[in-house]
Amino acid sequence: MRSIAIINQKGGVGKTTTAVNLGAGLAREGKRVAVVDLDPQAHATLHFGVDPRSARNTTYHLLTGDAQFASMWHTVDDGLKVAAAHLDLAAAEVELAGVVSREAILRDKLARISSDFDYLIIDCPPSLGLLTLNALAAVEDVFLPLQPHFLALHGLSKLMQTVGLVASRLNSRLRMAGVVLCLYESGTRLAGEVAGDVEEYFTHLRNEGPVWEHARLFSSRIRRNIRLAEAPSFGKSIFGYDASSAGANDYNALCSEVLSYYAGRSLVEGPRTTLAAPPAASMIEHRHAA
Ligand code: ADP
Ligand code: MG
Repeated sequence: MRSIAIINQKGGVGKTTTAVNLGAGLAREGKRVAVVDLDPQAHATLHFGVDPRSARNTTYHLLTGDAQFASMWHTVDDGLKVAAAHLDLAAAEVELAGVVSREAILRDKLARISSDFDYLIIDCPPSLGLLTLNALAAVEDVFLPLQPHFLALHGLSKLMQTVGLVASRLNSRLRMAGVVLCLYESGTRLAGEVAGDVEEYFTHLRNEGPVWEHARLFSSRIRRNIRLAEAPSFGKSIFGYDASSAGANDYNALCSEVLSYYAGRSLVEGPRTTLAAPPAASMIEHRHAA
């Protein structure tokens, strides 16, 4: 099972939209896909048309109780299941405050289902707290949606340091897969500049250790498309809502790119021997500070 955490400590950058539509797109390609909603706002759950209040077990029960994944799947389409979140999840961080190995709960529970799916995608909340930490400790790859605006790269190096720290202390197989540009306004100078900055940032980072060796800017751009913003209120992925939209095309392209990314990489199940160091301070932030 390939496993992906979709992270960014900022809200509104396209995490949930990417988790849902990448998941739905991969399922349409015949893959067995699970989407895990780890955000108390439950946006991915709602986007798939699942009512969080109807769920007997949610990711809150997974993290704070005895619940296992097997008891929580909602089938939303052929080959596509979602583990729902509920607002209760916001309390998990506090409830788990004194629990030993609280950052490894998700990893241990995921181990039991590693042969049930081809892809598991975790939609993370807009913070780098315990929920995101659980996701980073559990997965193989990090995907980072980025909205190209002036401050988009601000905070990127902090994020990368967090990924590096988790890789060196909690999860030696963790890899930065790359950045997906979302809400992209093609033709604007800024969008092009941000893309160039990200490319340059990763070019330097790729030499800093195994965590970064695959880091790339995905060449598929997710353009700003009103159909993507409308789809959640119908409880459908973009493919169920408007399969001929620009949004569906863009996520289709991303799916193909993701499939070829994985086709060229062998699955790492066990821990690695070489541990990665966190990256040096980012050139980008220096540049922006200058
Ligand atoms: P996050 O999960 O990072 O907070 P979302 O995926 O929920 O971000 O996106 C924030 C808002 O922008 C949502 O209302 C979503 O429907 C909308 N949105 C996301 N991507 C696009 C896009 N490419 N075009 C138009 N609207 C988008
Ligand atoms: Mg979200």
